[in-house]
Amino acid sequence: MPADLWGLPCGAKTRSGTPCKITALYFGGRCKWHGGLSTGPKSEAGKEQSRINGRKGGRPKRQKPES
Ligand SMILES: [Zn+2]
Repeated sequence: MPADLWGLPCGAKTRSGTPCKITALYFGGRCKWHGGLSTGPKSEAGKEQSRINGRKGGRPKRQKPES
């Protein structure tokens, strides 16, 4: 962690809309609750799943096992 980042608050936007004030930051400059923004799907399988999720109808519902 670079010394000039010490004491800076996390600053991530919380659910209530206010910036996070936690100053105990982890690598990446965010606190333990806020890992930073999502970097999106990395693998080809992840990208494909992402496309499926965005399609009309969304991802197929999991079938209940027949009993
Ligand atoms: Zn935070």
